[in-house]
Amino acid sequence: MKCINCGQDNRSTLKFCKKCGGDLTLPPAWFPGWKWHIKTLAWIYLTLIVGFFAVSYLLRKLPPPYDQRQLPPEMTPWLNPHKVPAK
Ligand SMILES: [Zn+2]
Repeated sequence: MKCINCGQDNRSTLKFCKKCGGDLTLPPAWFPGWKWHIKTLAWIYLTLIVGFFAVSYLLRKLPPPYDQRQLPPEMTPWLNPHKVPAK
């Protein structure tokens, strides 16, 4: 591995150049900047918000639970024993 500073050929296991002491570890090719963070967070929040409304819309299409359903009284005469359903 050649040093970027002085051109000295070093063993690839070394982390610093043996001639000039320069750093031989390569910097990461790409590092996320604040724009990337903003964009990624925006996508995450957008996905969560859209997913929340999609799931709540789909749940609202389901019939309500039994204890919240409006049952016609002729179907449940035992709830209203004094009123005889109209025939
Ligand atoms: Zn060097």
